[in-house]
Amino acid sequence: MPEQDRLETVVALTKRRGFIFPAAELYGGFRSAYDFGPLGVLLLRKIRDEWWRFMVRERPEVVGLEASILTPRAIWEASGHLEHFADPLVDCRSCKERWRADQIDGVCPRCGSRDLTPVRAFNLMFRTQVGPVEGEGAEAYLRPETAQGMFVDAAGVARAMRLRPPFGIAQIGKSFRNEITPGNFVFRTREFEQMEMEFFVHPDAADKAHDFWIEERMRWYDALGLTGAWLRLREHDRDELSHYASRTVDIEFRFPWGYGELEGIANRTDFDLRAHARAAREDLSFLDPETNERFYPYTIEPAGGVTRAAMAFLLAAFDVDEVNGEQRTVLRLSPRLAPYTAAVLPLARKPELTSLARRVFDELATIVDVDYDETQSIGRRYRRQDEIGTPWCVTVDFESLDDAAVTIRDRDTLQQERVAISDVATKIAERLEAAPRARARALTFHQR
Ligand code: ATP
Repeated sequence: MPEQDRLETVVALTKRRGFIFPAAELYGGFRSAYDFGPLGVLLLRKIRDEWWRFMVRERPEVVGLEASILTPRAIWEASGHLEHFADPLVDCRSCKERWRADQIDGVCPRCGSRDLTPVRAFNLMFRTQVGPVEGEGAEAYLRPETAQGMFVDAAGVARAMRLRPPFGIAQIGKSFRNEITPGNFVFRTREFEQMEMEFFVHPDAADKAHDFWIEERMRWYDALGLTGAWLRLREHDRDELSHYASRTVDIEFRFPWGYGELEGIANRTDFDLRAHARAAREDLSFLDPETNERFYPYTIEPAGGVTRAAMAFLLAAFDVDEVNGEQRTVLRLSPRLAPYTAAVLPLARKPELTSLARRVFDELATIVDVDYDETQSIGRRYRRQDEIGTPWCVTVDFESLDDAAVTIRDRDTLQQERVAISDVATKIAERLEAAPRARARALTFHQR
């Protein structure tokens, strides 16, 4: 299928099946903002859970944080975002459309005019007012990255958790950027969700830590289905680096319009901690107990988007094949990411079957997310589950009343296995456990 068609088909599917809706459509839409529906919520939650498990739970040296989204001006003054967090903006004098200068080639993509204004810097942060009094003291910002929370709280977290470099602070949450040209579905929106980790390490070990995290992050995506040519690594050019970074490597995904950033892994040096130490007049350095040296650690930051990753997983999973001479649409999502791990389907809408099916549902719902569907033919119901990526359908048929067993149908192999109802939860749990995932590796480098 041509790439543009794939995008349109997937966008239509996500709307029809309740993954992602355009925001405020009832009122004509709110350009480039999206609502995540029932299945989208489940997908996002699974992405977050997999990330958290791999980045935090399996690593004794990494801890979590949820910092506030509403932030005072002082943070962004110190971090350099007020000055530098801007995109180059040009206006087309003919059709008045605005563009990011680095994304067009001196020609307005809408009307073809070359009559563009000079480039000016447009700050991407959303500014707002807190409290009833106006003025500089009441000025606040919606954070454009979750990262600053980790820097501002680094000393407090380290003290509370008795941590010394190398250690990491991880956070998942919403960020906001007043993007000049949002678009390409949820690839670029003004409100989005990030998953970021700041890994504090002695400057001498920073390069090794950087390579370590690039590999770790690649393994995570790969195990969840973004294998082979779906991903590539790209080094930032010198002139492309953010104001705080000495080296950045992007993990790029093959989007329908070409490779685009999925996650950036930056060496932010000691820029942020020193900036906050200076601005807040606090010592934010750490002590090396062996040498008694005080030092400012470097920070390695793997920064990914939850919503952007959801789009990548959906695009990569989309497939069309043929079953019994009929076309079927199937999302080959990793069972670890599929919104529903299983669906319980009574063969017919007869009370003896539906009440037994309900018991199977209750059993499964204690361990995984389960759908329940008793409408229409069983074939139609299988297709519906394939289309949303449910890896296993559990069918309750008339024989189940006699043999106390059900059939588990596999989304990809289409094979059916008869299992005792008393074993069904264990069987589904075993299958889920067998699905690939990356395990955290212990640190492969030392302090220096
Ligand atoms: P770009 O160059 O595409 O604007 P960026 O380099 O500014 O992105 P980062 O600051 O590195 O992005 O943000 C880390 C991650 O957060 C990105 O890799 C992406 O997954 C996600 N992200 C950033 N901006 C957006 C956005 N506007 N919409 C959705 N996700 C985003």
